[in-house]
Amino acid sequence: MHVFELTRRLIEIPSLSGGEKAVAEFLADYLSRAGFAVELQEAEANRPNVYARLGEPDVVMSSHTDTVPPYVEFREDEQTIYGRGACDAKGVIAAMVKAAEGLIEAGVSDFGLLFVVGEEAGSAGARAANRVANRSRYLINGEPTESKLALGSKGALRAALKATGRAAHSAYPHLGESAIDKLLDVLGDLRRLDLPTDATLGPSTLNIGLIRGGVATNVVAPEAEAELLFRIVTDAASVKRLFEAAVRGRAEISYSFACDAVFMESLDGFETEVVAFTTDIPLLDGWGKPLLFGPGSILDAHTAHERISKSELLRAVDVYAQMTASLKERIKDSASQH
Ligand SMILES: [Zn+2]
Repeated sequence: MHVFELTRRLIEIPSLSGGEKAVAEFLADYLSRAGFAVELQEAEANRPNVYARLGEPDVVMSSHTDTVPPYVEFREDEQTIYGRGACDAKGVIAAMVKAAEGLIEAGVSDFGLLFVVGEEAGSAGARAANRVANRSRYLINGEPTESKLALGSKGALRAALKATGRAAHSAYPHLGESAIDKLLDVLGDLRRLDLPTDATLGPSTLNIGLIRGGVATNVVAPEAEAELLFRIVTDAASVKRLFEAAVRGRAEISYSFACDAVFMESLDGFETEVVAFTTDIPLLDGWGKPLLFGPGSILDAHTAHERISKSELLRAVDVYAQMTASLKERIKDSASQH
């Protein structure tokens, strides 16, 4: 089956998060015919991950079988394939499967394919897959990166600040305590905060996205709040420490989301980039050092015009095969040095 045909077949099996079974069974069947030992792992009831291996994999290519709603039908023209999952991530899966078939033909063994459920909604598939025993050294994860090798993605820390004062008539401000003044002082200090920078990911940034507080112009404000989002290039815990030290107890802090920055492996000969979206990679740390590469653009993913360029898809088949082969070389080289 040609990679375009395989992409079409995958798109034609709808697989919104929670309904991945039919596409998983199609892949399991296809890959066992191609010569792989295939395991269907129930991540949750009727939601199987697909793990296909040839020998004992030390390099594994992975992506996700689920898509976001709504379903968008397959269509194509000369240059482009359209439909739900075209780039996120059924085109990626098709390219990986064709790369794997090429590797078998070239006599390569000891590699695998892992396709998990639920990346778009809670990552149940990746969590379950991380419990599968394996001796993989590298995980090539596929998401649309415009065919560049992604070296990292920033983490995030979302926090709310609440300052409390004491209301009073504004003609007698000494009788009250302004929560707005307190909050402004804290926010001023936060804007001057020296946040960590990273050579790959660049600076951490802070956006003060929302502030509210006060009662009326003639009342000393009893309450004021702000919501903040840090985009971070280290771990969330160290940014929390800096943040809390700057606030110095002048406002109450609450956190609603935290995730660390993620760093991927590089490979010679690739254009590289930093990506802003999240993937299953942090949850698949039991599968070796991660790389992230895929045809198509994240800007097309999740849209009604989701698409993938046919020439990029063809190129991705070769790239995934080359990446797998060169990582296996790297493993062999490092073994012979020890
Ligand atoms: Zn995706």
